[in-house]
Amino acid sequence: MTTRPFTVALDGPAASGKGTIARALARQFGFAYLDTGLLYRAVGAQVNAGRDAVEAAESLTAGVLDDPGLRSSQAGQAASKVAAMPAVRAALKDFQRAFARRAGGAVLDGRDIGTVICPQAEVKLYVTASAEARARRRHRELAERGDGISYAEVLADIEARDERDMNRSDAPLRAAEGAVTLDTTEMSIEDAVAAATRAVEARLPQA
Ligand code: C5P
Repeated sequence: MTTRPFTVALDGPAASGKGTIARALARQFGFAYLDTGLLYRAVGAQVNAGRDAVEAAESLTAGVLDDPGLRSSQAGQAASKVAAMPAVRAALKDFQRAFARRAGGAVLDGRDIGTVICPQAEVKLYVTASAEARARRRHRELAERGDGISYAEVLADIEARDERDMNRSDAPLRAAEGAVTLDTTEMSIEDAVAAATRAVEARLPQA
C-alpha cells in the first residue's frame, strides 16, 4: 500500500492474460484497477447502436462499463475500430491519466498505457502470447459464458484486432520503453502473476 501515486501500466494484445494479472496485482497491493479496454468497448457498442463515436466518448459515464455485453467479441471488434480514431482516444485520455495518478496506487491495462497515457508509470509490463494460445483461452472463456463462437472465428477475430491495434497511426500497440515483457504462451497464470508481483515489489517505495 502507498499513499502516493504509483502506477502499474500493463499493455498487450487481446487475451494475453493482462486483465487477470492486473486484477491480481490490484488485489495484492490494494491498488485501484481500470480495464481501459472497457472504455473503448462502451464507445464501440454505442456506435453499433447508431451514435456518433466522438460524442459517445465525450459523454461516457462509469455506469455503462458494467454491461456484461461489453465482453462479447462483437464489442471487441467495434472497440478496435473506434480505437483507431484519434478524437476518440483524445476524449478518453484525461480520465485515464487522472485515474493512473490517483493517491494510493493504480493498475491500468490496455494498449497504450505505458507508451501514451502514463509513460512515467513506476512499473511497465508488456504481456503477450502467441495468437493461438490467446485464441484458445478466449474461446474457452466465451464458451463458459454460453457464446457458441468457434475457435477458428475467435482466432480470426484476434488476428484482425492485432493487425488493427498494432498498425494504427495513433498510439499503436507496442512495448513501452523500459517495459518488462512477460510471454505467457508457455507460462501458467500463477507464474505470470508471480513475475509481475516481483516487478512491482522492486519499485515500491521502502517503508
Ligand atoms: O482490452 P480489450 O480487448 O478489452 O480492448 C478492446 C479494444 O480496445 C482493443 O482491441 C483496442 O483496439 C482498444 N484499446 C485501445 N487502447 C486501450 C485499450 C483498448 O486501443 N488502452
